[in-house]
Amino acid sequence: MEINYIIKLRPSAVFRSIFHVLLTHQNNINFNLNSLPIYHPDPGNGIRDLKLKWPRVGNKIVIPFIIDPSSFYSRIQKDKVYAAMRHISEKTCINFRWKTNERDYLMIYSGKWCTSYVGRVGGMQRVSLQRDETCGNHIGMIVHELVHALGFLHMQSHADRDNYISVIKQNISPGEEFQFDKVNSLKATNFGTPYDYYSIMHYGTHAFSKNGRPTIVAKIGKFNQFIGQTNKLSFGDLIRIRMMYNCKCLEAGYQNC
Ligand SMILES: [Zn+2]
Repeated sequence: MEINYIIKLRPSAVFRSIFHVLLTHQNNINFNLNSLPIYHPDPGNGIRDLKLKWPRVGNKIVIPFIIDPSSFYSRIQKDKVYAAMRHISEKTCINFRWKTNERDYLMIYSGKWCTSYVGRVGGMQRVSLQRDETCGNHIGMIVHELVHALGFLHMQSHADRDNYISVIKQNISPGEEFQFDKVNSLKATNFGTPYDYYSIMHYGTHAFSKNGRPTIVAKIGKFNQFIGQTNKLSFGDLIRIRMMYNCKCLEAGYQNC
């Protein structure tokens, strides 16, 4: 990939280059899939299927939501959900709004663990933020679930991930192997950005370990300390969200998103 070349350009050129890649991919979706090679360039964790994306209203992508009253979240917990939404919104064109009459929306509730569908699946779609678990009380982990709902899988689902990380199968808890599946590059893309060890969508080194030993090891050792971070969206996460939703701020750096 020509990423090393792209990231040396000045920021506005970076966004233009990536923007061009996105347009190319959108066009590809209209092709007859049988005419495409099995391997598609630029694999990644962002879904390509336009039907799974949220609609644009004016210059914003609107994601309606409700918070299930019977989940009895505290005021502090609800504020964390709002803070997670603001974290996504402030540097992208994504706008979370209370549901009014929209057909498709997120229903945030306290289910088992923290889970989300990937992309807009239609109608009411549940996002579980378990009230009494760390994941339901941690802004970064809430961001992670909301980014799934935007249309992103885990970074280690990247079809080329074996070039960047090793998945240590013998350390994975039985029955959890599917958590480390790769996604076909026809279905997901990184929108021209490199594999992202800093992504908030990357599992940590010990995810689903059965024995306390690592399940993921970065091929470049220095990245082991970064993968699995849950503090904030990485620079790459922000670019990929903007790319997926064609945010106007794509070409204008961080301003006026
Ligand atoms: Zn996840």
